[in-house]
Amino acid sequence: MASIDTVILPFEEKPLHTPPLEEIRDVLAAGLVSNFATVDVEVVDCPNLTQAPFHLAGEGLNGNPALLEVGGPPYLLPHVDYTKLYDVVSISQRALNDTKKEILAIGAGAGPYPHVNSNCEGMFNLKISASGHVTSESHLAQITPDRKQVLLKKIPNTETRCALLGNIFLSEGKPGQVLKVSCKKRIGGEDFIASIRNALAKHYEDKPVGLGGVFLLKNGKAKQHVMSPFSETPIHTEEELNTWLNFFDMSATLIAVGTLVTNECDLDLRLQHFHSFSKHGEGGHYHIDTTPDIVEYEGYFNVGEKIVRVDKPVNTHKFGRD
Ligand code: ZN
Repeated sequence: MASIDTVILPFEEKPLHTPPLEEIRDVLAAGLVSNFATVDVEVVDCPNLTQAPFHLAGEGLNGNPALLEVGGPPYLLPHVDYTKLYDVVSISQRALNDTKKEILAIGAGAGPYPHVNSNCEGMFNLKISASGHVTSESHLAQITPDRKQVLLKKIPNTETRCALLGNIFLSEGKPGQVLKVSCKKRIGGEDFIASIRNALAKHYEDKPVGLGGVFLLKNGKAKQHVMSPFSETPIHTEEELNTWLNFFDMSATLIAVGTLVTNECDLDLRLQHFHSFSKHGEGGHYHIDTTPDIVEYEGYFNVGEKIVRVDKPVNTHKFGRD
């Protein structure tokens, strides 16, 4: 099935509040200590993210940083809408109003189900050159038929579709200053991303702040899910959803990409969404670490200047956004 022509998709955008990195550093340094025993937040020159242990398609997170929110859970639940296939390349180019720049697109969403003939998780990680050439380090994770194992697969350069929903951080992939957030030993109940999001939301209140980037789970394990093949029966309740999802404890080192935003900006947003891949065959949708005493996180984030909403569901619900 072909992806929907990007030209006909509804696009909406809103500016985000963009505090200086130094200010966010101080907000997070003060806010994260209620959730982690060791917290270190710095403004640093971004390490080259194409190198191990990151394995991203682009070097940095700078140059027109933006959050891109595509589709949503209403296209998956209670019934799947098979027509919802998006081309990440043309959507990213339209979102940044420019087809002549290099773009790095990293984030979480539903994988390109036609590619493996099955529903799957997508870890989008691709660089689009000024000439439109794609270098993909994207992965997908699907469940085996017995639902006991996860298959993590590299997505080729020629497959740039995202199905149903996606939360993607866009930039020109340039080097530059970013936030480095290191946390060890979780002492509170929030996952790494929720703790960052809540600290920002508490400080900035109704001014929306959005971040995107990459974090490593460097030690320990995390609870992650991988969706089953599309359900033939409708999924209406949280309980039915959790039976359909497959949960695993996955081991470090996990490399997670995605976005977070402190409020919905009246755009029907998912406030956080990160998917991880690895070099050891594990990958999925990040929920929280399951080894709080030994967990170690290291994240690199930049601040989005705007949020671009693509194909916002008309008939929406708040279900399946955990
Ligand atoms: Zn997900």
